[in-house]
This record gives sequence, structure tokens and C-alpha cells, in this order.
Amino acid sequence: MADILSGKVVSKDIREQIKRQVEEMSNKGKYPTLAILRVGKNPGDISYEKSILKSCDNLGIKTRVVELDMEINTEGLIREMESLNNDDSISGILLFRPLPSHIDEESIRNKICVEKDVDCMHPLNLEKIFEGDITGFAPCTPKAAMEILSHYDIPLEGKKVVVVNRSMVVGKPLAMMLLEKNATVTICHSRTKDLASITRDADIVITALGRAKFFGKEYFKEDSIVIDVGVSLDDEGSISGDVDFKGVEDFVNMITPVPGGVGAVTTSILLSQVVSACK
Ligand code: NAP
Repeated sequence: MADILSGKVVSKDIREQIKRQVEEMSNKGKYPTLAILRVGKNPGDISYEKSILKSCDNLGIKTRVVELDMEINTEGLIREMESLNNDDSISGILLFRPLPSHIDEESIRNKICVEKDVDCMHPLNLEKIFEGDITGFAPCTPKAAMEILSHYDIPLEGKKVVVVNRSMVVGKPLAMMLLEKNATVTICHSRTKDLASITRDADIVITALGRAKFFGKEYFKEDSIVIDVGVSLDDEGSISGDVDFKGVEDFVNMITPVPGGVGAVTTSILLSQVVSACK
């Protein structure tokens, strides 16, 4: 039976630290404040927003939600962003993406104040990840995967790690973070040939493919450590990871569940970055 790498446990630890830091800062008259910029009323965004607001409330982080009309254009959104950039009471800004297709996301990414970019949207913060410079804000999901590995003392140096994803939100920054820890990293994607033989050969497999229960036993070996970043709905409409958890849990060495794995840590990383931004 695999050891379960619980994201909830990791998240609890991070939140305890955040709570202590927020208390110390409030005593000095500093109040970490997250601004959420939302364009339209996408149900996924609203549900994520609700969970962030609840967490902020529990941790003493102040929030401001700016809801913008779906019809807003690129210039209008830039004006809203700049207003938050110039507002000293705002520590961090989160803009829900993807944006409607008529908005030029590239221009928006370049406008966010680098010091308030807690979701790592600005190219400068991304570039820091690629240079191994830890002074910027990291993308929250890859950092959450790294936190889980670190929390459970899983060594990375010299280990073969396969990342199944090459997006800028997950796979590419994650591969750089793993390289920084001296792992030997392979990135796989939809054109990769014989994926199973590559993942089977790895010590650690990190999946973010976005297809429920895609990975069965045949993709792993008995001492595989599996970090499942994927979140999608299975045939029964239940939330599922990329990995067929039930099919592999008595075979692999360690595995993150979905839900309760990487996703559970991602919001905590975001909030810890709001606290750092305020500092
Ligand atoms: P994405 O941009 O669509 O990336 C999916 C990746 O999977 C791409 O690199 C794609 O390859 C690769 N892929 C697709 N089919 C494949 C196949 N048959 N074999 C090998 N590789 C394949 O999606 P994303 O935004 O990065 O998100 C990926 C997943 O992570 C989603 O389930 C999303 O919900 C989840 N996610 C979770 C969190 C969290 O906090 N837990 C946060 C963000 C995203 P190509 O590049 O060749 O297309």
C-alpha cells in the first residue's frame, strides 16, 4: 500500500506559519491585503474566489474583490491593474485567467507590478525561476508540488524525475525548480512516444495532463513516487486526478490524492506569497 502524500497536512503547516506572520505584522500596523481581479462571472473563478476569501478570512489576510464586466477591453483592464499597482494598501494582486479572448493577455501580464505579482504572471518573475533566482514570486502550482516533496523529505538530487506537462503554468517552471534541486528532469507532452516506458523508468513522476484516471499501473514501477497535479471530472462526474488512484495505490511507493493533494497546497502558497509581498 502506497504512503499517501497528503496536501492537507502540508497546507496546514504553511497556514500555521502564515497566521503567525500575519499576527506579527498586524501588531506593527501592517496588513497583508490581496486584491482579486475577476473579469465576468465564470463559475470556476467564483468558486476559487470563494475558497480564497474564506481562507484569507481565517488567516487574517484582508481582501478586495474587483469584479469587471465581461465586455471590458484591454485598456480598461490595464487601468484597473494600474490602480491596484498604485494603491499602497494592496500587497498582492491575483487576476483570474484565462481572460476572455478579446483581451490581450500578454499586455496585461507585462503591466502587473512585479512586487505585487503573487501568482507569477509577469515575465520577469517567470524569468527568475529560469535563472534560479529565488527573490521573485514562483508560480503557485509548481511551488505546491515542490513543497509536498520537501515536506515529506523526498530527495531530489540525482533522481530521475519525469514531468508530464510543458505549460508555462506548470511543467516548464516546475522542471526548472527540480533542476535547481539537482534532479535529472525529463519533460513529456502529447507528442512524446512511448510515455509509459519513460515514466516507468523514473523515480518520481509528476503528472499534469488533465485527463481523469489516464495513468494506470502500467505507467509506474513499485518504488514510483507519484505527484498528481491534474484535476478533472471522471465519467461519474467526480473530481479526479490524472492517475487512477484506486488502481495504483497498492502498487506504487508514494502518491498524492486528488482532491487533497497538490491543489490543497496551491492556495496556501498563494497566500504565503501575499504575506511575503506585504513584508
Ligand atoms: P495544459 O496547458 O492543457 O497542459 C496539459 C499538458 O499535458 C500539455 O503539456 C500536453 O501536451 C500534455 N498532454 C496532453 N495529453 C497528453 C498525452 N496523451 N500524453 C502526454 N502528455 C499529454 O493544461 P494546464 O493548464 O497546464 O493544466 C494541466 C492540469 O493541471 C489540468 O488538469 C489542470 O486542472 C491541472 N492544474 C492543477 C492545479 C492545481 O493547483 N492542482 C493548477 C493548475 C492546473 P502538449 O503541450 O503537447 O499539448
